[in-house]
Amino acid sequence: TPLFDSPLAEAWIRAIAAAVEEEQARLTELDSAIGDGDHGSNLQRGFAAALTALDGLQPTGPGAVLSKTGATLISKVGGASGPLYGKAFRAIGAALPEPADPAVLAEALAAGLDAIRALGKAEPGDKTIVDAWTPAVAAFRTAAAAGATLPEAATAAADAADQGARDTVPLQARKGRASYLGERSIGHQDPGATSTALLFRTLADITSH
Ligand code: ADP
Ligand code: MG
Ligand code: MG
Repeated sequence: TPLFDSPLAEAWIRAIAAAVEEEQARLTELDSAIGDGDHGSNLQRGFAAALTALDGLQPTGPGAVLSKTGATLISKVGGASGPLYGKAFRAIGAALPEPADPAVLAEALAAGLDAIRALGKAEPGDKTIVDAWTPAVAAFRTAAAAGATLPEAATAAADAADQGARDTVPLQARKGRASYLGERSIGHQDPGATSTALLFRTLADITSH
């Protein structure tokens, strides 16, 4: 069963950039409802810059690709999501010096979630990207521990992230701009949880093909 290596890491970032491009309008619409309407453009700009940064990179392992992506997101995206996703990718990258099996990738993804929580201080249920990352990491770990292949574990994580994003609809935001709306944030899907679901869906897609 194939490992998560540099070509797959690069394919993941390219697939995210394409998905963000395709879903930019929807992400912006969600952020217009409970934020400032820039989530789609923030991620589009960040991942486009990551692609440019990867063009000149001779990766020493999958982690180098993801660390470079993280550093680029931190430097190019001003919104909350830039530093949060940037630190997540840097942490995932730091945990992947070599091609990784599903169990190692599970721990790397968990390190990414830890980095998000260390920076943003959000708890599950606060209506943030944490609400999609948390079930995704749990599902990836459970699948990997049960001997799942990379595509199987990533598909379980993507399904869990989708559900986590949908489950943000009835929540009241307690972190980020949406929290300024108080009860008026209820009834809308969180844009960041939605983009996190995209990240995990693209991981499932690129490992399955
Ligand atoms: P900004 O809010 O600065 O305009 P974005 O629109 O790009 O940044 O990102 C908004 C998303 O960031 C929210 O939908 C939410 O998921 C996420 N977010 C905001 N604050 C936090 C936080 N403290 N922890 C985790 N995620 C957060
Ligand atoms: Mg915004
Ligand atoms: Mg903004």
